[in-house]
Amino acid sequence: MKGRLEDKVVVITGGGSGLGRAVAIVVAEEGAKLSLVDINMEALEETKKLVLEQVETDILLLEGDVADEDQVKKYVDDSMSHFGRIDGFYNNAGIEGKQALTEDYDSAMFDKVIAINLKGVFYGLKHVLPVMKKQGGGYIVNTSSVGGIRAVMNQIAYGASKHAVAGMTKDAAIEYAEHGISVNAIAPGAILTEMVIGSFKQIDPDNWEAAAKDFVQDNPAKRLGKPEEVGHLVAYLLSGESPFINGAIIPIDGAQSAKY
Ligand code: NAD
Repeated sequence: MKGRLEDKVVVITGGGSGLGRAVAIVVAEEGAKLSLVDINMEALEETKKLVLEQVETDILLLEGDVADEDQVKKYVDDSMSHFGRIDGFYNNAGIEGKQALTEDYDSAMFDKVIAINLKGVFYGLKHVLPVMKKQGGGYIVNTSSVGGIRAVMNQIAYGASKHAVAGMTKDAAIEYAEHGISVNAIAPGAILTEMVIGSFKQIDPDNWEAAAKDFVQDNPAKRLGKPEEVGHLVAYLLSGESPFINGAIIPIDGAQSAKY
């Protein structure tokens, strides 16, 4: 049986770890060819190895910083030179930044979080949308967060950036729907990745597992999410099975966002 993404080309930013890696594995299993972008080439090599352990496919690795528009233009151009088209785009790379009360929040860190999480997503949209428009369609998924639809303590920059991702998703969706392009965002709760482990380490540097255990008590599902759960959601949105889902911000959080 053919996969839902058979011979489709999917570009993934932040493909070296966590959600980007999980999506890479699932979409490759569904038949996709991959262009994986990350600031960390070693991490990309590891993702490639993990994908190829599951399935044989064409994988292009591109080192690049999503906060730099020239490097974003380059990963789009390089993907096009290699594959000739971009069917799906998981616009995902992001960082948490340091946790602090707003009055103590370091302004340089604020700029860094905005540069990667907000501008990085904008540059990705800016350079991939015209490619898809020319092709006559495509599917884009941005990574917002539960912090993009409600408040999260001590994360003023992260919250600002992820609310902005939700806003940019809706704006791009209404601009490009008539060109056969769907632009959606996912809003994950805490999913067990390196970023979330780092976040728990900020809460309790000596025992992040205890911080995690404490944290999930507040979640209706009483657990962290798994990266592969996100992988399946993103693969579905990129598959084009339901293109009328457009401009949506879709929580994947064990009902956490429904609670408030
Ligand atoms: P992660 O740290 O495991 O992976 C992020 C990847 O992005 C890393 O490989 C890193 O090298 C790469 N990256 C960082 N800065 C980059 C840059 N400037 N240019 C290119 N690549 C860069 O984190 P994750 O949990 O997989 O997070 C992925 C996305 O999901 C982020 O946008 C994050 O904010 C979002 N998110 C994660 C969670 C969660 O619980 N894990 C929840 C909500 C949202």
